[in-house]
Amino acid sequence: MPDHSERALATHASDAGALPEGIHRIALPTPFPIGRVNIYLLEGDPLTLVDTGVNTGTSLDLLEQVLADLGHAIEDIELLLLTHEHVDHVGLSTVIAARADCPVAAYAPLQALWDPEQDPAQIIGSRMAWGVAQLERHGYPRELVMGAQPAFHLMLALGSRPVVDVALRPGDVIRAGSRNWEVHHRPGHSPSDLVFIDRGSRTAISGDHVLGGTSSNPILSPPLEIPAPDVTTERLRSLQLFVESMKRTAEDDLMLVLPGHGPLVGPPAELIGERLAFHEKRADKFLEMLDASEPQTVYELATRMWKGVVMVQPSLTHSEVVGHLDLLEERGLVAEAVVSDGVVGFIRT
Ligand SMILES: [Zn+2]
Repeated sequence: MPDHSERALATHASDAGALPEGIHRIALPTPFPIGRVNIYLLEGDPLTLVDTGVNTGTSLDLLEQVLADLGHAIEDIELLLLTHEHVDHVGLSTVIAARADCPVAAYAPLQALWDPEQDPAQIIGSRMAWGVAQLERHGYPRELVMGAQPAFHLMLALGSRPVVDVALRPGDVIRAGSRNWEVHHRPGHSPSDLVFIDRGSRTAISGDHVLGGTSSNPILSPPLEIPAPDVTTERLRSLQLFVESMKRTAEDDLMLVLPGHGPLVGPPAELIGERLAFHEKRADKFLEMLDASEPQTVYELATRMWKGVVMVQPSLTHSEVVGHLDLLEERGLVAEAVVSDGVVGFIRT
């Protein structure tokens, strides 16, 4: 049973008065460098939980305690709303949906990705193989690629594949916690990122699309519409999508953003401006590292930028470099070039 200090860390005195009435932030622990994940309880009709935390007993125990402090139980939840597909946001969704006997609402293509009729081993296996092939193609050494695989398995253990009962599409409005939330698709951090906006209070629930304390990573991913990609399936241009999505959020005239990690965010336009400038600067740095004759692999560029971090977080560094090279490629400033059999690098054009 979580002790009082754990419960204090999961709830925030500083939120009092800052959150619209009937909305509570619950910060559950994760084993990831990002730290705690914020999930939100929306009181009212229907009683709604937005996101879930990872699939661990510790996380479930703490959630039950905090809900009890607020006068609720898991069995009372009438709707489970998911911001995006990542395990820290959906891990407990199958457990909660079963215990509460409530519908799960998420971005429509996740219905097919998590289809219980499909063999999960085949879908998950092909997505892992796709990720491994991307690392190998971009010059990551064999031992790092091997090292990335337990991380994929950890994701499996901490995640879950809930049945999606309510398939959400951009333009939909969903009733949750006695408010009408507009559904917006703002991909880039993941392909399934949704942002829910309550126009009345000018509040958005942003998942990991906008974070207060840190810049969100544009995680490399195959298209959601291809649940079982093969190694030739093209990656989504995550950072380009992310930049487009952020520009749209900056124009949403919001007063408050409830992020998936870290503190609440006020009007986000200025923060988004800073994030866009940060990505421009980083893209310039990668461009400076390249020349017109000798191709550099993503691994070489990541190592020059972050040194040892590449050893610890091969997949994240990979996503970051590829995202910025995509931006530069779209502008005609860099191009892919073959380094050796099955390995590509990039040159200045
Ligand atoms: Zn995420």
